[in-house]
Amino acid sequence: DTVIVLLNRDLRVHDHPALTAACEGARAVIPLFVLDEAVPAGHRRGFLLECLADLRASFQARGGDLIVRHGDVVTETMKLVRGTGAEAVFASADVSLLARNRQDRLARERISYQLFPGVTVVPPGTLKPSGGGDHYRVFTPYWRSWSRHRHRPVLAAPHRVPTPQDLDAGRLPGPARQQPVPGGETAARDRARRWIRRDLPGYADGHDDLAGDRTSHLSPYLRFGCLSPLELAHLAAGGEAFLRQLCWRDFHHQVTYAFPRINREDYRPRGHRWRDDEDALQAWREGMTGLPIVDAGMRQLLTEGWMHNRARLIVASYLVKVLGIDWRAGARHFFEHLLDGDVANNSGNWQWVAGTGNDTRPNRGFNPLRQAQRFDPAGEYVRRYVPELTDVPAAHMHQPWRLSTPPSGYPRPML
Ligand code: FAD
Repeated sequence: DTVIVLLNRDLRVHDHPALTAACEGARAVIPLFVLDEAVPAGHRRGFLLECLADLRASFQARGGDLIVRHGDVVTETMKLVRGTGAEAVFASADVSLLARNRQDRLARERISYQLFPGVTVVPPGTLKPSGGGDHYRVFTPYWRSWSRHRHRPVLAAPHRVPTPQDLDAGRLPGPARQQPVPGGETAARDRARRWIRRDLPGYADGHDDLAGDRTSHLSPYLRFGCLSPLELAHLAAGGEAFLRQLCWRDFHHQVTYAFPRINREDYRPRGHRWRDDEDALQAWREGMTGLPIVDAGMRQLLTEGWMHNRARLIVASYLVKVLGIDWRAGARHFFEHLLDGDVANNSGNWQWVAGTGNDTRPNRGFNPLRQAQRFDPAGEYVRRYVPELTDVPAAHMHQPWRLSTPPSGYPRPML
């Protein structure tokens, strides 16, 4: 028999439950990726194309291939089912509204359709709060239960992927330009091993240091599933501060699973209104607010497609709490530019900062200046991303407007 493995956020061969099940049980396995033209151009699309090229090479090394199609994922999958006489479609279960919609449509087709774990460490919905309810709303009790959970075993990569040789493999466009970060499972595994050996021991103390930049930068790989989060948790065993971050990722996925409208709806205190200020929003997007720590973060996002977590907290809090602008406008901009941009983590974190989500706390807020002095004391992070301030002495880096002659070409603070 023939099984199609429909790939999406699981672009790897190691620890891939759906792929392993297909390779163990079927005579022929067709790994399929459908490129939807809706994936926005830019860093994330380029990264995705590199992930796919790497995956194709891995399948070819195992006697198979990655079959690529273009268009609507359900239509293309069913065309391939009919063209090959496949009996089943296997996929990794995912949580966003878009993914759920795809899953529901496939479930209604006349084909055996099976979902497997693999997108998170612990599958969403597995852990239930003891006090009742279908998901955890608050992180700490979730973390306690997550830490005690017994995991499924990590799976080895299949030795052979028996893809029928007569299938048209399909065109895979090359990435348009040089990517800021190399995509794919090979690069992901290299980086993970190196980082764990060298930097995991210093993570607990160093992860908030903006200029030191000691976090793993594995988020784009986790976003596309080039790394199994479960395997990563095994590799990082004992590094509690790091495991806690992987747990935050699971936490937001289980909230999204229970509450798929997370990226649209919020629970604001009654009477609260967001401010409409397109100029301020635009200055924030461009990194031209006049507050150096905010501008450094926003410019890191535009140039690298990534931003340090501490900077994300500061710029998000500034947009929502200082400018009073709707978090969804911020989340949209992040989603457009982040290599790791995904609905669950992006909306979950924005809701957390805004205090409007599950764990509603309208008074959560950061003072951006105090944060800057604490996490970038020598102003090195700002100096790296805001060239107009290169010559400003460290003592004034976070408040250049206090200089007797403020640097030219850099705006005065909006507020
Ligand atoms: P590390 O510190 O090395 O952490 C390891 C992994 O844990 C990360 O790769 C990530 O997968 C996970 N992780 C770490 N922190 C968080 C967190 N707070 N929430 C969920 N998972 C976490 N992360 C995304 O992956 N996609 C997003 O779209 C996203 N949007 C965010 C928006 C805002 C406003 C904020 C405050 C945070 C957002 N984050 C998002 C979370 C976090 O900033 C990034 O995951 C982290 O900075 C990635 O860098 P790293 O891989 O070096 O992280």
